[in-house]
Amino acid sequence: MTHDHGNLHARHRAVLPSWLSLYYERPLELTHGEGRHVWDADGTCYLDFFGGILTTMTAHALPEVTKAVSEQAGRILHTSTLYLSRPMIELAERIAALSGIPDARVFFTTSGTEANDTALLLATTYRRSNQILAMRNSYHGRSFSAIGITGNQSWSPTSLSPLQTLYVHGGVRSRGPFAELSDRDYIAACTADLTDLLGQTAGGVAALIAEPIQGVGGFTAPPDGLYAAFREVLAREGILWISDEVQTGWGRTGDHFWGWQAHADNGPPDLLTFAKGIGNGMSIGGVVARADIMNCLPANSLSTFGGTPVTMAAGLANLTYLLDHDLQGNARRVGGLLIERLRAVAAGLDLVREVRGRGLMIGVELVRPGTDEPSPEAASLVLEAARERGLLIGKGGRGGAALRIAPPLTLTVAEAEQGATLLAAALRHTQDQLAGGGGE
Ligand code: PMP
Repeated sequence: MTHDHGNLHARHRAVLPSWLSLYYERPLELTHGEGRHVWDADGTCYLDFFGGILTTMTAHALPEVTKAVSEQAGRILHTSTLYLSRPMIELAERIAALSGIPDARVFFTTSGTEANDTALLLATTYRRSNQILAMRNSYHGRSFSAIGITGNQSWSPTSLSPLQTLYVHGGVRSRGPFAELSDRDYIAACTADLTDLLGQTAGGVAALIAEPIQGVGGFTAPPDGLYAAFREVLAREGILWISDEVQTGWGRTGDHFWGWQAHADNGPPDLLTFAKGIGNGMSIGGVVARADIMNCLPANSLSTFGGTPVTMAAGLANLTYLLDHDLQGNARRVGGLLIERLRAVAAGLDLVREVRGRGLMIGVELVRPGTDEPSPEAASLVLEAARERGLLIGKGGRGGAALRIAPPLTLTVAEAEQGATLLAAALRHTQDQLAGGGGE
């Protein structure tokens, strides 16, 4: 049987939206996976360092998750939230306990976008205000309200918004007006900026929403402690803190189970949102909030598919595997080694401006050699060169100039070393290509 790849691409273009972009000049059709590997329709095997955008959290085809899904599918696929759901209650109990938020309540959705929408609905209702603080370079989803808190032009198709959004400095350590400052001074400058901003609003800001490490933004982050300093300012006015843990949750950052724990001096956030990895590909999103905030809605609300039994069974099996095998510890150890290897590679290459991140969430920002200008072109070339060598990675950041590396959390040392070697070759190839080809 021929897979007729070109035809499939043409059919994609003919029937799907133009803004639903694909990676690679010859886009890939992935047909199966196992562990940290995936195969395309032609049978070519790739080491997967992107996990379908940080969503294959433990491993492809993890037997425990497959078993839980098929067993639940054989019993009942759907009941709705009108009836008691044992797997939903059990997963909510476990997430509430892990969240660090006291007296926590959990609401399940089908995506990160809907989780953030819910958090915004809760915060704006609780505070009787539609003013939201968001970070520059942020991404929180694709809905009308989530687009209104997106500080990233490439992902902002409209400026219309139900929210009044004020963008705050601090999510991008190594660029912007405060980049040259020390960590301490950087935090002080961003906090002073926040205080100044609050002094200029009509009053009654509802919440700050922030990704502890910006995902789509290219794995950029503030120094540890920034959000704790922000928290102190926000708390004076009762402004809530929403931590968007859609990419940073479940131990991916190695040092912490949640990204907010790098900013924990003044306690946990008031709300936390999650999605992506917890379902290992099954659609689970959700929001955790203090009971008084979660319960503040004056009307009914439900998500028909949120918390459906098959997804909850998958989430429980996936979370159990993650905790039983200390995958956070694995992310710290193997991720630490991978960052070190990539930093050593980068030291010899003008193309690489910065290797950043923590655990298995690593960004490599590329520039036009000899300049400080971000180079999305170089990133596209490295993606292609890595693919040719059997390695899948992602990209992000302004214009897409940062490579994003986020393998499943079961990554082995041997796989990390293999991936680093392949990426090093792809980077060197691209640097030579740019030098030889007369630039971009
Ligand atoms: N928040 C963050 C930090 C994300 O990275 C994403 C997805 N890239 C979302 C929210 C939206 O999640 P979803 O695509 O599941 O709606």
